[in-house]
Amino acid sequence: MLLIACPYCGNRPETEFRCGGQAHIARPSDPGSLSDEQWAEHLFVRSNPRGVHAERWNHVHGCGRWFNARRDTVSDRFLETYKMGETPQSQKSTSTDSTSTQAEARA
Ligand SMILES: [Zn+2]
Repeated sequence: MLLIACPYCGNRPETEFRCGGQAHIARPSDPGSLSDEQWAEHLFVRSNPRGVHAERWNHVHGCGRWFNARRDTVSDRFLETYKMGETPQSQKSTSTDSTSTQAEARA
Protein backbone atom coordinates (compact mmCIF):
# COMPACT_ATOMS: atom_id res chain seq x y z
CA MET A 1 0.00 0.00 0.00
CA LEU A 2 1.20 3.48 -0.85
CA LEU A 3 2.03 5.65 2.15
CA ILE A 4 1.59 9.42 1.95
CA ALA A 5 3.42 11.68 4.41
CA CYS A 6 0.88 14.07 5.88
CA PRO A 7 2.89 17.10 7.12
CA TYR A 8 0.83 17.01 10.32
CA CYS A 9 0.40 13.27 11.02
CA GLY A 10 3.32 11.52 9.30
CA ASN A 11 3.08 8.50 6.99
CA ARG A 12 -0.47 7.23 6.55
CA PRO A 13 -2.15 4.84 4.05
CA GLU A 14 -3.26 6.37 0.74
CA THR A 15 -6.87 5.39 1.45
CA GLU A 16 -7.04 8.19 4.04
CA PHE A 17 -6.39 10.91 1.44
CA ARG A 18 -8.20 12.67 -1.36
CA CYS A 19 -6.52 14.61 -4.16
CA GLY A 20 -7.77 18.17 -4.63
CA GLY A 21 -6.21 18.88 -8.00
CA GLN A 22 -3.50 21.24 -9.13
CA ALA A 23 -1.81 23.38 -6.48
CA HIS A 24 -0.63 26.98 -6.53
CA ILE A 25 -3.41 28.45 -8.68
CA ALA A 26 -3.66 32.16 -7.97
CA ARG A 27 -7.03 33.88 -8.24
CA PRO A 28 -6.93 36.79 -10.71
CA SER A 29 -6.48 40.11 -8.90
CA ASP A 30 -9.32 41.74 -10.86
CA PRO A 31 -11.80 39.03 -11.96
CA GLY A 32 -14.21 41.62 -13.32
CA SER A 33 -11.78 42.62 -16.02
CA LEU A 34 -11.57 39.10 -17.47
CA SER A 35 -13.53 37.93 -20.47
CA ASP A 36 -15.84 34.93 -20.07
CA GLU A 37 -13.26 32.77 -21.83
CA GLN A 38 -10.45 33.92 -19.52
CA TRP A 39 -12.63 33.35 -16.43
CA ALA A 40 -13.65 29.88 -17.66
CA GLU A 41 -9.99 29.06 -18.27
CA HIS A 42 -9.12 30.12 -14.72
CA LEU A 43 -11.91 27.99 -13.26
CA PHE A 44 -11.68 24.84 -15.35
CA VAL A 45 -8.42 24.48 -17.26
CA ARG A 46 -5.68 22.64 -15.36
CA SER A 47 -2.34 21.26 -16.38
CA ASN A 48 -2.03 17.50 -16.60
CA PRO A 49 1.69 16.90 -17.04
CA ARG A 50 3.49 13.65 -17.50
CA GLY A 51 6.03 13.86 -14.68
CA VAL A 52 6.34 15.99 -11.57
CA HIS A 53 3.17 17.86 -10.63
CA ALA A 54 2.26 20.07 -7.66
CA GLU A 55 -1.09 19.01 -6.17
CA ARG A 56 -3.34 19.79 -3.24
CA TRP A 57 -4.23 16.87 -0.99
CA ASN A 58 -6.63 16.49 1.90
CA HIS A 59 -6.11 14.06 4.77
CA VAL A 60 -9.86 13.50 4.75
CA HIS A 61 -9.90 10.39 7.00
CA GLY A 62 -7.26 11.73 9.37
CA CYS A 63 -6.60 15.26 10.58
CA GLY A 64 -8.79 16.77 7.84
CA ARG A 65 -6.17 19.31 6.84
CA TRP A 66 -5.14 20.36 3.35
CA PHE A 67 -1.51 20.31 2.24
CA ASN A 68 0.50 20.42 -0.97
CA ALA A 69 2.53 17.64 -2.54
CA ARG A 70 4.88 17.20 -5.46
CA ARG A 71 4.11 13.89 -7.12
CA ASP A 72 5.50 12.16 -10.18
CA THR A 73 2.45 11.23 -12.24
CA VAL A 74 4.35 8.50 -14.09
CA SER A 75 5.63 6.54 -11.07
CA ASP A 76 2.95 7.79 -8.60
CA ARG A 77 5.84 8.53 -6.23
CA PHE A 78 5.47 11.45 -3.81
CA LEU A 79 8.64 13.57 -3.93
CA GLU A 80 7.63 15.78 -1.01
CA THR A 81 4.68 17.08 0.97
CA TYR A 82 4.48 20.49 2.61
CA LYS A 83 2.00 22.63 4.51
CA MET A 84 -0.10 25.27 2.78
CA GLY A 85 1.83 28.53 2.57
CA GLU A 86 5.21 26.82 2.83
CA THR A 87 7.79 26.78 0.05
CA PRO A 88 8.57 23.30 -1.25
CA GLN A 89 12.02 22.05 -0.33
CA SER A 90 12.86 21.66 -4.02
CA GLN A 91 12.33 25.39 -4.63
CA LYS A 92 14.32 26.38 -1.54
CA SER A 93 17.36 24.54 -2.84
CA THR A 94 17.18 25.75 -6.46
CA SER A 95 18.37 29.25 -5.60
CA THR A 96 21.59 27.99 -4.03
CA ASP A 97 22.09 24.52 -5.48
CA SER A 98 21.70 24.18 -9.22
CA THR A 99 22.59 20.45 -9.22
CA SER A 100 19.21 19.41 -7.79
CA THR A 101 17.42 21.36 -10.51
CA GLN A 102 19.46 19.63 -13.17
CA ALA A 103 18.74 16.23 -11.62
CA GLU A 104 14.98 16.94 -11.66
CA ALA A 105 15.10 18.14 -15.25
CA ARG A 106 16.64 14.83 -16.28
CA ALA A 107 14.11 12.76 -14.30
ZN1 LIG B 1 -3.00 14.46 8.66
